[in-house]
Amino acid sequence: MAKKTVLSASTTTGDLTLGNFIGAIHNWTQMQEEYSCYYMVADLHSLTVYQDPKELHQRCLSFYAQYLACGLDPQKNVIFLQSHVKEHAELCWALNCITPMGALNRMTQFKEKSQKTREINNGLYSYPVLMAADILLYQADLVPVGEDQKQHLELTRDLAESFNNKYGKAFKIPEPFIGKKGARVMSLQDPTKKMSKSDENPKNFISIIDSPKQITKKIKAAVTDSDPDAKIEYDLKNKEGLANLMTIYSVLSGDSFEKIEKDFEGKMYGHFKVALAELVCSSFQPVQESYAQLMADEAHLVSLMKANAERARERAQITLKDVYSKLGLVL
Ligand code: ATP
Ligand code: MG
Repeated sequence: MAKKTVLSASTTTGDLTLGNFIGAIHNWTQMQEEYSCYYMVADLHSLTVYQDPKELHQRCLSFYAQYLACGLDPQKNVIFLQSHVKEHAELCWALNCITPMGALNRMTQFKEKSQKTREINNGLYSYPVLMAADILLYQADLVPVGEDQKQHLELTRDLAESFNNKYGKAFKIPEPFIGKKGARVMSLQDPTKKMSKSDENPKNFISIIDSPKQITKKIKAAVTDSDPDAKIEYDLKNKEGLANLMTIYSVLSGDSFEKIEKDFEGKMYGHFKVALAELVCSSFQPVQESYAQLMADEAHLVSLMKANAERARERAQITLKDVYSKLGLVL
């Protein structure tokens, strides 16, 4: 039986965080053996918010290197930059023309992001349509999304169904693939909101290329609660900050919450934080070594990008041609 296809992406804003690592990339490295995987560096998506051109250029290279450093293999998977495959923008337009405004108005991420941004542009508003194009171009069966992207995947499914009904079947309907635990890592300073790499305050997130010193400092400063006993227990309702730190510990160590509670019985929050910092640093050490090596040879990195983009285009062109033909455009 043919392998199922998976499409995953991350926007080039900031650097990949511990949240991306646990919520997305950790699953991706496990999936590359079993599935036919397309991993995309979503550089076009990042343009919805102003990017300094020089910084963006550097970040695209850095992101690609971060993907590979996290263990994604460019031979086993197709790992590419979104802007290198022009079919994304073309399919996006076709989908824009069947997307009801009402559906976009319901997107909670747009509501959140537009409150934080002074200039709200059309790209930010219609970003879920480009995301739908990203997924549907490759006829993805599965999309490993965090909780924050579930609503966008729903829209993708609605658009695919709507197109198929109107013009004939061009798209497979994708399913979400959500990791069981640690699907959502929260901000270190405000555990009611998710950790985001585009967060303005670097104390809120841990980047996978933060130095061990920075990582330790950020974890030590993470918000907990005022329990006078500082008891290490998983209590999402009353100890949100600690619950977040325990989730990170549990995912990286493979230990259950019960085991963590037992191992840290009688210990204080400070003690747990030191252990967590050590665990995060040692988990990231091989990633950081590999990252440094990749960034030292830019020509090699770019040649990998270009070869992978060609492979992505081969698949993308088949879908786009079919869509154009079904729409009645002259090929
Ligand atoms: P941005 O702030 O730019 O939106 P982000 O950190 O939310 O950045 P995305 O590029 O939007 O990252 O998402 C990349 C992948 O990481 C997606 O699959 C998303 O669901 C997942 N992800 C993002 N943040 C978290 C988080 N805090 N916990 C778990 N998974 C996350
Ligand atoms: Mg996001």
